[in-house]
Amino acid sequence: YLTYQSGRESNARSYPRRIPIALREGKGIVVKDVEGKSYYDCLSGAGTLALGHHHPAVTEAMQDVWKSGVPLHTLDLTSPVKEAFMKELLAFLPASFARDARIQFCGPTGADAVEAAVKLVKTATGRTGMMSFQGGYHGMTHGALSLTGNIKPKQALGSMNDVQFLPYPYAYRCPFGLGGECCDETAAHYIAHMLQDPESGVCKPAGMIMEMVQGEGGVIPAPNRFAARIRQMTKEHGIPLLIDEVQTGFGRTGKRFAFEHADIVPDVLILSKAIGGSLPLSVVVYHKSLDVWQSGAHAGTFRGNVLAMAAGTATMKVIQQEKLEHHAEQMGLRFESHFHTLRQTVTSVGDVRVKGLMIGLEIVNPDQPADRLGHFPADPKMAADIQKMCIESGLIVELGGRHGSVLRLLPPLIVTPEQVDDICTILEKAIHRCER
Ligand code: PMP
Repeated sequence: YLTYQSGRESNARSYPRRIPIALREGKGIVVKDVEGKSYYDCLSGAGTLALGHHHPAVTEAMQDVWKSGVPLHTLDLTSPVKEAFMKELLAFLPASFARDARIQFCGPTGADAVEAAVKLVKTATGRTGMMSFQGGYHGMTHGALSLTGNIKPKQALGSMNDVQFLPYPYAYRCPFGLGGECCDETAAHYIAHMLQDPESGVCKPAGMIMEMVQGEGGVIPAPNRFAARIRQMTKEHGIPLLIDEVQTGFGRTGKRFAFEHADIVPDVLILSKAIGGSLPLSVVVYHKSLDVWQSGAHAGTFRGNVLAMAAGTATMKVIQQEKLEHHAEQMGLRFESHFHTLRQTVTSVGDVRVKGLMIGLEIVNPDQPADRLGHFPADPKMAADIQKMCIESGLIVELGGRHGSVLRLLPPLIVTPEQVDDICTILEKAIHRCER
């Protein structure tokens, strides 16, 4: 399997290089490879599998579609499946946001929704520039990539959207060299200054896009106070705030949507991954005042796949019935307490960041000189060694962060306390062995 793939698939493939296994089956949080070896899947299809692999409710919902004979592709025509999906999504959102919301179905990926959201605010405001955050990730299509922080594939592509990058509070590696709360306070001041001062040379943008927790960027939660300041400033300046919850949405962070932690609502909400219950689907939800598009202004053949909508409706129902956002919060705390104990005995875990079931361990090199905050440099090599060791021991974790040195865990929301303990045991052993 692997030889064939490495010989014939595009050189852009990335997961297979770090996770060199061929999968045969998956159930819940466990996947098996073609040789029958089991792994805990803490990547969950990059966060799409909120309920794990082949959850009975999701499977049943898809089988119902199959049996009912509803056309699998309806363009943007409606169907009973689509009606049920829209109703469920609006009920799943906070009422204050859902009341006046409009839904735009986009292509299958998160990047498709980002593209649509940017077009929408450009059309609504008549302005063309955007603001985005350093370290943020919004996808790999041309427009979405222009909003994504400065990653390698971007550098060779020449001119892109006009995007102004703003500092994102990251206390551990604060862009201002400040720690703790000073980092988010200073970032907020800096942004306020950019927006207010005509001398700053900043043109008023069509919108500001932000993740509530930077996922690919290394699991960096925006402090609530910072997010609230951003909401207040964007309101004052008449700049639509686009919150990208492609990864953080649907219970992942301990609330249904991560913006709820900061008690704010966006103008535009960008959703994908878990919304399709593991099938490709993305939508943008926005305030009706922004619904300025002419009919056909945003089109595309694949918008709202019927099977994905059925799977998504079932996923939302299960999250709601089983209060999985609370479970995610509890399980996150359990992970955190394991890592707290781990840090007493290892020196290479510089920081632990947990927001529900978005978990990041920043791997550092304590043999190198520390920065002025006392933090050691990132150690991507050791992070990769730990990842490899985890995979050999039956645990799939991913790497992320600006230097590729953050071990990321995104287990399905249905992970049990026993599984959390098992996962931590494997991870702890791998870290200890790599430290020696
Ligand atoms: N936004 C965020 C916050 C993401 O995490 C991702 C994917 N990791 C995207 C957008 C892009 O989604 P996709 O890969 O489906 O295009």
